[in-house]
Amino acid sequence: MTSRKAGWLAIITLIGLIAVLPVPEFWIIQLNYIGISSLAVLGLILLTGVGGLTSFGQAAFVGIGAYTSAYLTVNAGLSPWLTLLIGMALTATCAIVLGWITLRMSGHYLPLATIAWGLSLYYIMGNLEALGKYDGILDVQSLKVGGWDLGHGRVFFVMTWSLLLLASLGMIHLLDSRVGRAIRSLKTGSQMAESMGIDTLKFKIGIFTLAALLASMSGWLYAHFQRAVNPSPFGMQIGIEYLFMAVLGGAGHVWGAITGVTITKLLSDQLQVLLPKLIGTSGSYEIIVFGVLLVLTLKYAPEGIWAFVDRRLPKAPRKVDWHQAAPLAHRSKPAAGEVVLQVKDIRKEFGGLVAVNNINFTVQSAQIVGLIGPNGAGKSTTFNLITGVLRPTSGSVTFRGESITNSASREIAKRGISRTFQHVKMIADMTVLENVALGAHLRGDQGAVSAMLRLDRSEEQGLFKEAEFQLRRVGMGEYLHELAGNLAMGQQRLLEIARALCNDPALLLLDEPAAGLRHKEKQALADVLRQLKSEGLSILLVEHDMDLVMQVTDRIVVMEFGTRLIEGTPEEIQASPEVRAAYLGTEH
Ligand code: ADP
Ligand code: MG
Repeated sequence: MTSRKAGWLAIITLIGLIAVLPVPEFWIIQLNYIGISSLAVLGLILLTGVGGLTSFGQAAFVGIGAYTSAYLTVNAGLSPWLTLLIGMALTATCAIVLGWITLRMSGHYLPLATIAWGLSLYYIMGNLEALGKYDGILDVQSLKVGGWDLGHGRVFFVMTWSLLLLASLGMIHLLDSRVGRAIRSLKTGSQMAESMGIDTLKFKIGIFTLAALLASMSGWLYAHFQRAVNPSPFGMQIGIEYLFMAVLGGAGHVWGAITGVTITKLLSDQLQVLLPKLIGTSGSYEIIVFGVLLVLTLKYAPEGIWAFVDRRLPKAPRKVDWHQAAPLAHRSKPAAGEVVLQVKDIRKEFGGLVAVNNINFTVQSAQIVGLIGPNGAGKSTTFNLITGVLRPTSGSVTFRGESITNSASREIAKRGISRTFQHVKMIADMTVLENVALGAHLRGDQGAVSAMLRLDRSEEQGLFKEAEFQLRRVGMGEYLHELAGNLAMGQQRLLEIARALCNDPALLLLDEPAAGLRHKEKQALADVLRQLKSEGLSILLVEHDMDLVMQVTDRIVVMEFGTRLIEGTPEEIQASPEVRAAYLGTEH
């Protein structure tokens, strides 16, 4: 039995034991509240911890779930099982609208919008006559199946914790999938993710909605366990407490949710008894203790308490189960001599600075074209214009006969242009293999639901097989299971090349791939580039190592101050007095 399976068995056994042993009713009730809150916090783990998006509005979504079910069961006599679905539909609608409006804008709008959202919902709940104003709705029925009452301590405990464990398992599966890698890439900024073909807005709205749905479910459980609702558990302060629990428990870990909620709950119970004795007066002094605790956590355990435990758990390396996987489909390759890329009069101005000044060049199939020039010449900007990271001021880019001038990054990736970045962009806490599999995002199509249900395994095997193949090809076969953050600079660059190759590109753009590589590694890189060329791939290469450039390129474009200085074969460039002048600063 694997250690993971043993862990699950232990948890399930524990829940069973708590349910049948004479555990005092008080503790069962505490555990029920912990389970209910953990569902809402689990949503924040996904949204904030993994996706890097902060929401203060999680409690408001709990409120929607709770109030929808309370109102419709009491006033319309609907079954709670139906109102669960209605509540979730309402929650999803609100989350998608709110997410669609705010997530298109930069990072700060979501926290601000969720504050506004949380506050306004709180006042709506508190002021609407139909919702009972600040008294709320009383006499909510308990959950029943047939005639069987689920609302009582132990039965409710088993139901809530089963639901929580299922949600946690689904989350673990989700994060370990094609969709999960896309979600984990959101934190590194959208540029890299989009260039892998990932629609970052869609995934941001997706995790915001999923987090809200978990909150809604938590609210539904709360309403039918408490048998009443009022606005106070759904206010802004509770929204902040949920965030606190996630950070304390370990915002990047699924088990951080239960950890954070349990510690907070137990501690606040103790403090409520202890502090008045110490201080002599009663009041909400535990808030101060929690504030101090949060600062200490952020300073000494920024990854939260679960991260400590997690580091000490035995971990088996990923099982290599993809050798039998069917190879992925390939795109049609350009014919010999086909013009793959045509850059025409492309220009980019940043304010008064002309970074790229009407540049022209073409790349044919199976050709390696070098783009060289001193620092600041406009090489990386040219890359960004070709790959849709920047919009050109004027000019056009044509790829395989079709204009991609104003296309988005991910559209361009879809058509078969892959790139690496001058400043490496990878996910440090993901393995090398997973980072590279991210590059194959467009070659899979399994979504979130199939990932949660583990129906995506055969596609995953195909993606991993491809990732391993590309890593071995660039000489990184030894590092498959290493965390990307532990790699040396040169290896990180090789990781980026392997990731770019996973998209099965027709054109590969490499921005200073040899920077940080040792001599032998550079020779190995030159061999890889020649091999790729022999397979029909076209490469545009920005590189300062002239030995490498002269060895592998067919043609070279020299840029200086945004302008094309000269274009020619390596021999012509080497012989050119203008190039010497540009590089050495001598008069020619
Ligand atoms: P290279 O890659 O050849 O070293 P870059 O393309 O990075 O050069 O930069 C070309 C010029 O454009 C530099 O002067 C740089 O400062 C400027 N530049 C690049 N990106 C931006 C930007 N986003 N905003 C303003 N100026 C920029
Ligand atoms: Mg550059």
